[in-house]
Amino acid sequence: MASIFTKIIKGEIPSYKIAENENYYAFLDINPLAKGHTLVIPKNETDYIFNIEDEEYKGLFAFAKKVGIAVEKVIPCKRIGITVIGLEVPHAHIHIIPINSIYDMDFKQPKLKFSNEEFIRIASDIKSEYEKL
Ligand code: 5GP
Repeated sequence: MASIFTKIIKGEIPSYKIAENENYYAFLDINPLAKGHTLVIPKNETDYIFNIEDEEYKGLFAFAKKVGIAVEKVIPCKRIGITVIGLEVPHAHIHIIPINSIYDMDFKQPKLKFSNEEFIRIASDIKSEYEKL
């Protein structure tokens, strides 16, 4: 059965899309730890990130770098934190999270809530910056 993220890539489930190319897709996390919390995924569905072959793996991180640079142009923060967890969704993904302290990377923190309009605005602002890179 296709993962929820494969359904997002195919447009069967909506997402707040940031960027996409032939092999990768980036969209806002629906339960964000921070404003601008973004997920970057390969279009090929692989559960465990270390099972991705090297070229695709390198491409995933290069794509995530560009997305992260776009996020930090929109969201004021000290750094962009990147992490891979993968305990919930069995489709490899990189979390891109604007942070000001190490605690901002703590997934036990309460998640933020945004309205549909706010999510659309955040995604659109980051998308615009991404397209300038
Ligand atoms: P992990 O697998 O890295 O432990 O966590 C999966 C992440 O995907 C979580 O941060 C969760 O909020 C996010 N997530 C799960 N389902 C969806 C979804 O349907 N849409 C979006 N945009 N994010 C999701």
